[in-house]
Amino acid sequence: MAKRTKKVKSAGRYGPRYGVKIRYRIKAIEEKQRQWHLCPRCGRKRVKRESTGIWVCRKCNAKFAGGAYLPRTLTGRDVEKSIKSILGR
Ligand SMILES: [Zn+2]
Repeated sequence: MAKRTKKVKSAGRYGPRYGVKIRYRIKAIEEKQRQWHLCPRCGRKRVKRESTGIWVCRKCNAKFAGGAYLPRTLTGRDVEKSIKSILGR
């Protein structure tokens, strides 16, 4: 990183703009987003975000749609539950 970004780390690219609170929230989201996530196919922690809502597993090459910042969201989990209960009938 070229510039010193103090406490907000990745959100430091916004400089002093948008206010500290918002930059802190961006930092929290981006840290989660950039982690390795669990792959729903091979179960390994090798999933990275390719683009907004698109996730790719570096191990088995599974590509799937998910949340914008996380591969699985709370809302998405509820939807999965609903689908399962409908199909189970
Ligand atoms: Zn995988």
